[in-house]
Amino acid sequence: MVVIMHDLIIVGGGPAGLTAGIYAVRYGMDVIVLEKSVVQGQISLTNIIENYPGFASISGGELMERFNDHANTAGVKLQSADVEKIEDAGDKKIIVAHNGKFEAKAVIIATGAEPRRLGVTGEGKYLAKGVSYCATCDGPFFAGQKVIVVGGGDSAVTEALILSSIASKVYIVHRRDKLRSCSLLQKRVYEKENIEFIWDTVIEEILGEELVEKVLLKNVKTEEKTEMDIDGVFISVGIVPRTELIDVDKNEAGFIKTNERMETSISGIYAAGDCRETVLWQVVTAVGEGAVAAVSAHEYVMVME
Ligand code: NAP
Repeated sequence: MVVIMHDLIIVGGGPAGLTAGIYAVRYGMDVIVLEKSVVQGQISLTNIIENYPGFASISGGELMERFNDHANTAGVKLQSADVEKIEDAGDKKIIVAHNGKFEAKAVIIATGAEPRRLGVTGEGKYLAKGVSYCATCDGPFFAGQKVIVVGGGDSAVTEALILSSIASKVYIVHRRDKLRSCSLLQKRVYEKENIEFIWDTVIEEILGEELVEKVLLKNVKTEEKTEMDIDGVFISVGIVPRTELIDVDKNEAGFIKTNERMETSISGIYAAGDCRETVLWQVVTAVGEGAVAAVSAHEYVMVME
């Protein structure tokens, strides 16, 4: 089979990947975006976004739809592929996917991240049986019930706010006595009457029969352990980058290291968005990084020609 050599392949069709695609097309590059899922990017599962300029409030799904329409109009070609490996062969990068091989002069990795697992007993057993990582997706199953959200960041607080209008009671279980989320979200969550905080506490075990019925909690200061009846456990303890497919320099958490031009440790390979080491993982930063990565990739390909 003849493998077409593209100028640029972008792996991942979330905000970073599609923005990179739009810029690459404008630079006249022969580019394709490979995306494994019909749900593009974590953003698609986000209930409300209020910090993307130009949209005071928009659902993640709708914003992603607009990105897609824009990319489509600009002429970005999206192709379905679950990429398993990216190999560097100097002037040629080989992308190995479940449905075949692709080749390009340059690659942008925009594979994003996924929710971090808590790593406690029962988490895997009760997945989709009371354990969830997405209130937007699974919240409606808990109407009028009692749920826990684990974590103290923007995601946990956002999940708790979504669930507070569905469940009868939401407990935020956090391992410290302070939230790390932004103050606007904190103000909102403290105002909700059906959200209660359980500070300095971790979940040690998730228990039940067919479905989640209770959790074993441990106060990390007193070491005291208590069982608590609960219908659902929503876990929001950070993100893990999807970066196993490429062997470039990464930090201890697996996020790809780049310079300000989005260049990774391999020449011709760039990274943008949630999979990249940064200080802020937001849609607004992802799109900017996508644009920079595309410009850098364009310059790289031009020098090759
Ligand atoms: P995060 O900011 O890293 O927060 C993770 C939270 O989980 C922290 O409170 C952390 O506790 C806790 N945690 C981590 N590991 C734990 C463990 N093993 N057991 C118990 N608790 C644990 O992650 P995030 O909230 O998922 O946010 C990720 C990024 O997305 C951030 O940049 C965030 O700003 C962004 N985001 C933004 C929005 C928004 O702008 N509306 C919404 C969602 C996410 P400690 O505090 O003790 O470390």
